Amino acid sequence: MLKDLFRKQKKYATIPSEHAKKDIPEGIMQKCPRCGAISYTKELEKNLKVCKNCQHHFSMSAPERIKVTVDEGRFFEFDVDLLSEDPLSFPNYQQKVKQDMEKTQLNEAVVTGEGTIGGYPAVVGVMDSRFRMGSMGSVVGEKIARAAMRAATKKYPFILFSASGGARMQEGVLSLMQMAKTSAALERMHRERVLFVSILTNPTTGGVSASFSSLGDINLAEPEALIGFAGRRVIEQTVRQKLPEDFQTAEFLLKHGQLDEVVHRGEMRETLIRILDLHSGKGENHE
Ligand SMILES: [Zn+2]
Repeated sequence: MLKDLFRKQKKYATIPSEHAKKDIPEGIMQKCPRCGAISYTKELEKNLKVCKNCQHHFSMSAPERIKVTVDEGRFFEFDVDLLSEDPLSFPNYQQKVKQDMEKTQLNEAVVTGEGTIGGYPAVVGVMDSRFRMGSMGSVVGEKIARAAMRAATKKYPFILFSASGGARMQEGVLSLMQMAKTSAALERMHRERVLFVSILTNPTTGGVSASFSSLGDINLAEPEALIGFAGRRVIEQTVRQKLPEDFQTAEFLLKHGQLDEVVHRGEMRETLIRILDLHSGKGENHE
C-alpha cells in the first residue's frame, strides 16, 4: 500500500518542458525586494509587474512595456539595424554589448517606433535597463533623436519611457554629446508644436535625467522611481549636509515641482490616452 502511494505521486510529478521553461525565464516565483512577499511570476506579470502586497513596481523590459502600452499589433519599430561602435577601443566593451544583444534580443538599450495608443497615433520610445544598465551611448542618443525628428515630421506626439544609469562611459565624450543632440532634436520637435510626454521610471539618473527625460511638455514618473543626476553619497559629500530620506524619489520631485504627476503603472495607459485625447485637437483647427 505504501508502495502504491509513492507510485501515485511519481505518476503526477511533472517536469517543465523546454517550452515552459522559456515562458518563465526568471523562475516560477519572484520575491518582492521591497516587502518580501512571494508571488507567482505569471500573476505578477498579469498585474503589470506590480507587487499586490505593497505596490512595488518591478522593472519592465522594453518589449513588456510596449505590450502593455501600445495597442496590440500596432507597433512598428524604427532603426533596428543601428549598432554601437567602439570608438575608444574600451576593454571588453564590444563583447559586453554583444552579450546584452543576445540576452535581450535588442540592438541597443532603447526601442523606438510608431504605433497607436487607444487609437491615437504616437511615436514611442522605451529604454531597457537590462542592456548595459540602460546607459546612453551614441546609438541610444541617435535612436531617440531620430524618433523625435520623425515625430516632428509626422506631427505625432512623442511618448518616451526612460530607465537609465546615465551616459555610457565606454563611449566617452560621444556619450555626453548625446545629451545635446537629443535636446536639440526635441527643441526642433517643440518648434513644430509636437507634444512630448516623458515618463521617468526606476532608475532615471545621470546624463539621461539631465537631458531628454526632463524635457517633456508633461513629465510623469512611476511611484518611488529613483530620479537624480549624481548619487546621494556624492551630493552629501559635496554639500556637507544630510539629505532627506525620500530625496531623489518621484514623490519628492513631484512635491518640488519637477514632475507633473506620479502615475501608478495600472493607470499609465489610461493616463496617456487621456493626454493624447486632450492634445489631439479634435474639433479644433488652428491652421
Ligand atoms: Zn511587495
